[in-house]
Amino acid sequence: MTKSTPSDNCPKCGGELFQTDKNTFTGEVWREYTCRSCKHIVEVNEGIALWQVLHDAAEKAEREKGGK
Ligand SMILES: [Zn+2]
Repeated sequence: MTKSTPSDNCPKCGGELFQTDKNTFTGEVWREYTCRSCKHIVEVNEGIALWQVLHDAAEKAEREKGGK
């Protein structure tokens, strides 16, 4: 799995994108970018939110600690 950084350019016109929104509903991170030139909106799923990963890791560590 490669770390995918969203392209800085609009897929439609090649214009510059700027971030307009960020959502972390259902434990996933969604970023919304809007093109400066044509107002095309690009939504990027960044995957599981970091807090969700940390939460799972903490739970796992807790389980392993008590298991032995
Ligand atoms: Zn554009």
